[in-house]
Amino acid sequence: MVNSSLAALACPTVQHLPIYRPGKPSSELAREYKLSKIVKLASNENPLGCSPHVLDAVQQALANIAHYPDANAYELKQALAVHCGVTMDQIALGNGSNDILDVIARTFLCADDEAIYDEYAFQVYPIAVTLASAKAVVTPSRHWRHDVVAMLNAVNARTKMVLLANPNNPTGTYLTHAELTQLLQGLPPHVLLVMDEAYVEYVRLADYPQTLKLLAQYPNLIVTRTFSKAYGLAGLRVGYSLSHPDIAALLNRVRQPFNVNHLAQMAAIAALRDQAFVLQSQQLNEQSMQQWRHALDKLGLSYIASVANFITVKFGSQIAEGSRTAEGSRASEIQQALLQHGVIVRPLDNYRMPEHLRISMGTREENEYAIDKLQGVLHL
Ligand SMILES: *Cc1c(COP(=O)(O)O)cnc(C)c1O
Repeated sequence: MVNSSLAALACPTVQHLPIYRPGKPSSELAREYKLSKIVKLASNENPLGCSPHVLDAVQQALANIAHYPDANAYELKQALAVHCGVTMDQIALGNGSNDILDVIARTFLCADDEAIYDEYAFQVYPIAVTLASAKAVVTPSRHWRHDVVAMLNAVNARTKMVLLANPNNPTGTYLTHAELTQLLQGLPPHVLLVMDEAYVEYVRLADYPQTLKLLAQYPNLIVTRTFSKAYGLAGLRVGYSLSHPDIAALLNRVRQPFNVNHLAQMAAIAALRDQAFVLQSQQLNEQSMQQWRHALDKLGLSYIASVANFITVKFGSQIAEGSRTAEGSRASEIQQALLQHGVIVRPLDNYRMPEHLRISMGTREENEYAIDKLQGVLHL
């Protein structure tokens, strides 16, 4: 029961805050159903786990957990600067890139400022913008892709930033280099462009933008990246932004001083050193994507072409005849049925995509298992 008089104490921004809906944890499903095997393809995690060198680094770092972490994360920033070809003063670190996105919003968005994002934008953006008391301006997608022209048309004197993920979650579509430069050239200098590149390591396409090369030319560009996806450190929470040093200095002033813990810092350094692991993850992802496309084609299901580590599949709204589920879409019916077989995928109702489910790429075996269960539940 919500105590309404206590709820009324919250700031109006909090009272209207959208709720983040994470993928269902395997442990929760295991508690609910007595299942011996669970395959979680719901949070775009790395199915290979992380580099074994990370485990060694964390083991060693355990000796130091009585001490506060390095608030400036000198060694991690140094490693990142080399890896990304930037200077250390261009980096701000976050407790996951979600933290950095929140810090960016709190640093730059004041009441009455406007922030633009696509109708199928990552669910953290509405939360960060709302909490900062700013106004969200939502632009329509075109064929599940961000519409750069619509975004530019939405800019006015109050606009402070444009937020976009490339590739985008939950659609998996991407903006090309040409589209990004069109956007950057069209934005006035008082508008920041926040490019969330959580899945950058998975994309190997010639027309995918090389954003870091654009930083020198566009001081209003902020690129965010994470160790949660291809590096496999989602549980440790490390993300970062790359920007003009003046922007990084502001973000570093606003973030909590110890927002990246010691184990996370040491793990991220070790993860960066093992690029062979990242390459292996990227290659597995490509194979998994082929495996899923092939299976979905055979099952006659349509999906949004994705360059990330997940695929968003359309199941439609029509509930099967004689189904015991009286309400909800076909997609939620499938999602529930998959849960009972130990397969966790992501419903997208909160993205206003109730006919779709998002499926993360697993190992070959995990994919096979999930495809087999999907084939089974499709006949329900
Ligand atoms: C997963 C994801 C992130 C990463 O979040 P972390 O806080 O770094 O774990 C950021 N942006 C998008 C679009 C994502 O899908």
